Amino acid sequence: MIDILNQPIENIKGIGPNRSKLIESDLGIKSLGDLLFIFPYRYVDKTLVTLIKDVQNKSHVQVVGTLIDKSKVKGGKTTRLKATIRDSSGLMELVWFKSPQWIEDKLVLGKKFLVYGKATRFKGILSISHPELEDYAESKLQARSYEPVYSATEKVNKLGFNNKKRSKIILETLSKINHDDIKENLPDYLRSKLDLIDRIQALRWIHFPPHAAALAQARKRIKFEEVFYFKIRMLYNKQQRKLKYKGEVFSKVGDYFNNYYAHHIPFELTNAQKRVIKEIRADLGSGSQMNRLLQGDVGSGKTMVALLSMLIALDNGYQSVLVAPTEILAQQHYLTISDALKGSSIRTAFLSGSVKGRTRTDILRFLQEGELNILIGTHAVLEDKVNFDNLGLAIVDEQHRFGVLQRSKLWQKGRTLPPHMLVMTATPIPRTLAMTVYGDLDVSVIDELPPGRKPVKTIHKMEKNRSQVIEFMHKQIQEGHQIYIVYPLIDESEKLDLANLQQGYENLLTYFPPPDYKISVVHGRMKPADKDLEMKRFSEGKTHIMVATTVIEVGVNVPNASVMVIENTERFGLSQLHQLRGRVGRGADQSFCILMSSSQLSVNAKSRIKIMVSTTDGFLIAEEDLKLRGPGDIEGTKQSGVQAFRLFDLIEDENMLDTTHDIATLIISRDPQLDQEPNLIIQHNINRLNRGYKDWGRIG
Ligand code: ADP
Ligand code: MG
Repeated sequence: MIDILNQPIENIKGIGPNRSKLIESDLGIKSLGDLLFIFPYRYVDKTLVTLIKDVQNKSHVQVVGTLIDKSKVKGGKTTRLKATIRDSSGLMELVWFKSPQWIEDKLVLGKKFLVYGKATRFKGILSISHPELEDYAESKLQARSYEPVYSATEKVNKLGFNNKKRSKIILETLSKINHDDIKENLPDYLRSKLDLIDRIQALRWIHFPPHAAALAQARKRIKFEEVFYFKIRMLYNKQQRKLKYKGEVFSKVGDYFNNYYAHHIPFELTNAQKRVIKEIRADLGSGSQMNRLLQGDVGSGKTMVALLSMLIALDNGYQSVLVAPTEILAQQHYLTISDALKGSSIRTAFLSGSVKGRTRTDILRFLQEGELNILIGTHAVLEDKVNFDNLGLAIVDEQHRFGVLQRSKLWQKGRTLPPHMLVMTATPIPRTLAMTVYGDLDVSVIDELPPGRKPVKTIHKMEKNRSQVIEFMHKQIQEGHQIYIVYPLIDESEKLDLANLQQGYENLLTYFPPPDYKISVVHGRMKPADKDLEMKRFSEGKTHIMVATTVIEVGVNVPNASVMVIENTERFGLSQLHQLRGRVGRGADQSFCILMSSSQLSVNAKSRIKIMVSTTDGFLIAEEDLKLRGPGDIEGTKQSGVQAFRLFDLIEDENMLDTTHDIATLIISRDPQLDQEPNLIIQHNINRLNRGYKDWGRIG
C-alpha cells in the first residue's frame, strides 16, 4: 500500500523541489498529509446569487447575468477589456486590465454567465475587476458550494501555488484516500452518542463543504477530536504516572495535626480551605505520589493549608520543606510558621544563601539526622548538599517563578520515593485554561476569601489629577500607613523604564522630602541582597513609601501598606494588575489602589482599567484577561499545546470543553487502562501521540 499522506508535495506535477522548499518554509506544508490537515481559514459562499441591484460596494458577490456588450478600451500603454452584463435588476461592468485571449473568446454576446468577484461602485457604476467567469447552467449552479480559502503568502502565490491550485491538489488527494489512509480514531459508541460524522467525511467536508450544515458537522467532529484527545491523553498519562510513581503512604492524621487544628488555628477555616485539605489528605494516603497544584487568590490563606499539610507529614514521621522564590517571602513564611508552632516540639529552620557558617552546617546536620522537622527557605534548599533524613512533602510557593528542573531536584531528595509535591500559586487561571494547561497536575482551588476582608477600593486617575493623589498619599501617611508606587518594567525598553522610575522617585522627593519622609526604591537591576534590604526596611515600617518595579509582584505581605499607586497603568496586563493590587488590603483598614494613566487610552487599556475598577475577583479578572488577550499569551499556555488546536477555540467552545471533560473522565474512570475493546483505538492513538509520531493519528 502506498502511503499517500506522506508523499512529498515535491512530486506533484508543477511543484518540484524548489517550489516545495518555499512552500514548506512559508506555509509549513511538506506532504500531502500536511495539505489535508491545514484547513481553510474561510470559505467563499457560492451558493448565493445576488441581484445586481442588491450588490453592496466592496463585497464579494456572485451574480448571474447575460452579456450585452464588450469592448476594448485603450488607455496609455495598456488596453482594457470591458464587458457589461445584465440581470433582471440592473447592469454591471466587468473589467480586465490584462486579458488573455481565451477570456475574450469566451465572452460571447447574449450568453449567460456566472460571475464571481469583489464588486466596487465608482461614480455610480458597479464593476468587478478580473472576475471569475463561468458559463451559466442551472444544473451546475445547484451543485455549487462553498469554496475553501487557505492562508498563503504572496511569494507562494506568485510561484503558482495559489488557492486554486492548492484546492485542486487537495480535492484530488481527497478523492484518492480511503479509510486505510485516514483511520477512524474515535470509537463508534462515542460517535453515535455525540452524533459525529466519520473522520474521512469530516476531512472532505472541512475542505469542500457542500452546504452550511455539512461544514458545521465537519467542524464539530474535528473540534471534538482535537479536544478529546488533548483531554483524554492527559488523564490517561496522569493515571499512568500515578501507577508508575509510588508515594509514601501517609496513612494517619495524628496528634500534631489534630492538636493544632483543634486548639491553635486563630480563625475558622473557610470551607474552601477545608475542602482543599481534604483533597490533599486523600492524595497523601493514596499510595501514589501527590502532584497537586493549589490555586488561590492572594490572601485566600494558602499558607495555612501548607502548614496543615506539613503537620500530616509530621504525624507520619516525615519531614517537609517549603520553598519560596525570594528571600523575603521565605522569611515571611518562616516567621509565620515558626510563630504558629511556638510552644510545640516541632523544630523548624530557615535556609537561604545568606545563612552561612556554623548556623548553616548545624542546619544541614540536623536535617540529615532527622532532628529538624520543617525546613523553609529559598532555592538554597535545592542544593545538593542539602540532604534530608526522610523528606515526605515538598511545597513550592508561587510556582510560576519555579522551573521544572528545580522541581525535579526536589523529587530527588526523598529517601526512596519522591516526596509528595504541593505547588501553590496565586495566579488565578480561568477554569477553561486550568482544565487544559494543568491537565497532568491535580488542581485544588481556594475560591473563597476569609470573611471580613475589606475589598480594596480601586480608583482610576489621570495624570492631571496627580496633585489630588499626592494629597491623598499625605493623608494616608499621616494616619500611619505605608504606600507602594509601582512602575512598569518591560524588557525592550528597560533603560527607559528605569529612567522613568528614577524620574518618579525624584519628583516624589519634592512632595515627600527627607528627613520627615523616607522612601525605599527597589528595581530589577539591583543586587538581590540590596533589594531584600530595602524590602525589609519597608516591611519593618522604616520607610513610608516603596517605589518599585514589578519585582514586588509576588507574595510580599506588609499589612500596614494601604495604598498601591500604579503608574502607567495602561502598560500592565490585567493579571499583573491584579497581582499588584493584592499587595494591599492585607490589614484591617480600608486599602486603596490608584490606577494612574494618561488620558489617551486604547480601547483595550480602557477595558482593562474598567474591569480592575469594577471587581476584585481574581478568577473573574482571569476570565476577562483570557477574552482580551486570547489564550496564547496567558502564562503557562505556551508549553501546554493549547495553541496547537487548529479549530477548537477555548473561548468560543467552552461548552464543548465541558462535555469533553466529562466524557473523557467517565471513560477513564470506567476503563483506566483503555484496554476494553471499543477503547483500544483510543489507547492506541494516545500511545502514538506520546511517542511523538507525526502521523495523522489526530487532528492538531
Ligand atoms: P495567600 O493565599 O495569599 O498566601 P496567606 O496564607 O498569606 O494568603 O493568608 C493571608 C492572611 O489571611 C493571613 O494573615 C492569614 O493568617 C489569614 N487567614 C488565612 N486563612 C484565614 C481564615 N480562614 N480566616 C481568617 N483569616 C485567615
Ligand atoms: Mg502566600
